[in-house]
Amino acid sequence: MEQNKHRVHAHVIVVPYPSQGHINPLLQFAKRLASKGVKSTLATTHYTLKSISAANVGVEPISDGFDETGFAQVQNVHLFLKSFRENGSKSLSQLIQKFKDSGSPVTCIVYDAFFPWALDVAKQHGIYGAAFFTNSAAVCSIFCRIHHGSLHLPVEKNDLPLLLPGLPPLNSQDLPSFLRLPESYPAYLAMKLSQFSNLSKADWAFGNTFEALEGEVVEGLAGLWPGRLIGPMIPSAYLDDRIEEDRGYGASLWKPLSEKCIKWLETKSVNSVVYVSFGSMVSVTAKQMEEIAWGLKESGMNFLWVLRESEHSLLPNGFLDSIREEGILVTWCNQLEMLANPAIGCFVTHCGWNSTLEGLSLGVPMIGVPQWADQLTDAKFVEEIWEVGVRAREDEKGVARKELVKCLKEVMEGERSHEIRRNASKWKKLAKEAISEGGSSDKNINDFVNHLMYA
Ligand code: UDP
Repeated sequence: MEQNKHRVHAHVIVVPYPSQGHINPLLQFAKRLASKGVKSTLATTHYTLKSISAANVGVEPISDGFDETGFAQVQNVHLFLKSFRENGSKSLSQLIQKFKDSGSPVTCIVYDAFFPWALDVAKQHGIYGAAFFTNSAAVCSIFCRIHHGSLHLPVEKNDLPLLLPGLPPLNSQDLPSFLRLPESYPAYLAMKLSQFSNLSKADWAFGNTFEALEGEVVEGLAGLWPGRLIGPMIPSAYLDDRIEEDRGYGASLWKPLSEKCIKWLETKSVNSVVYVSFGSMVSVTAKQMEEIAWGLKESGMNFLWVLRESEHSLLPNGFLDSIREEGILVTWCNQLEMLANPAIGCFVTHCGWNSTLEGLSLGVPMIGVPQWADQLTDAKFVEEIWEVGVRAREDEKGVARKELVKCLKEVMEGERSHEIRRNASKWKKLAKEAISEGGSSDKNINDFVNHLMYA
């Protein structure tokens, strides 16, 4: 306990963007806060609510205006975000009032940085507001610079490579795709930039990364971004070697078929299986799917491929029939459980930030096949900065099967595979240190908790 201070009631409402890659780290943060004695409630949309089950964390609905259908049905991102801002502000405010009336007042809103309006709601109620950034500090630093006017859009060819303090030289293929093609995704670009619109009013900002991994990037921003690094937000069962029952995030928008996968993995030897997943949102083209499928087959390696049901129709003819005991396809699983399994030897990933952080924290070598958004920048760091894998090179149709086979051989059995595996183990150790008691991320979380709990 803090000296000369008395304990006060602390109640945090955590508000994630309603997609898997945002609910996971924010729910994990809510759980971490609860484990340190803070009452935690996750406020999320009606249709994501039922996918969440987390001991010690309350779950309450807020509205995005699409309570019945779910946002997967909303084609227009701009419309969805506008509707969420209007309906979310109102329903979040009502939720805060409800807790006040029931004698358990909310003292802080931890909001997904994509929802700056949640900070305005917190301030209207006179409570703390803390922004949670779900991407890497590197990506955050790029958008932060655009917001502050020290980087201009569009990034022109003759500006390249971009030389920014704290970052490696960035070429066109390393930049978040919204920067290369600002006019293609105006709503997403606006959302990314809106993260900084009222940040100066926030009482805290957090980044899901850690000091050893991206401390230099934050230093390079010279105070422009007030983020404290509190990651990796991964269930501690995977990092602390503690035997805990809680081996998942506690949220799954699709039914996980993990048992089937684990049984199958038990039949495979250590480091012999390639785990393939492109996360919860990416849709690859039919041509790209064909190249991945036949690349896996041609490599002759074992593979476990997570392919969402909606993508199965894109598989090339004859592929499923060609698979014997070397491969298995599932529509969803508990990814952490797979990555932690000793049979998994490498992770073919789209380099979404959670997947990247999970691979890195569990010491699994990666092959980056980034598709869009921040994934391109994450892949650059995987290959060149953290040196825990390679990035598959694209031709005009995407990553060709030959290229995939080449990368698989390099990471699984080539000359560099030992070095890559050593680096992966190093980062696993550093991730564990950051989040363990006394580690850099744990200290930052404790500072926040102490501030909330002791007046
Ligand atoms: N995930 C999972 N099961 C799967 C595939 C993915 O639980 O079969 C989780 C994964 O662990 C990660 C999240 O879904 O936490 C995906 O987030 P990421 O940022 O990697 O990608 P996004 O889905 O946002 O593109």
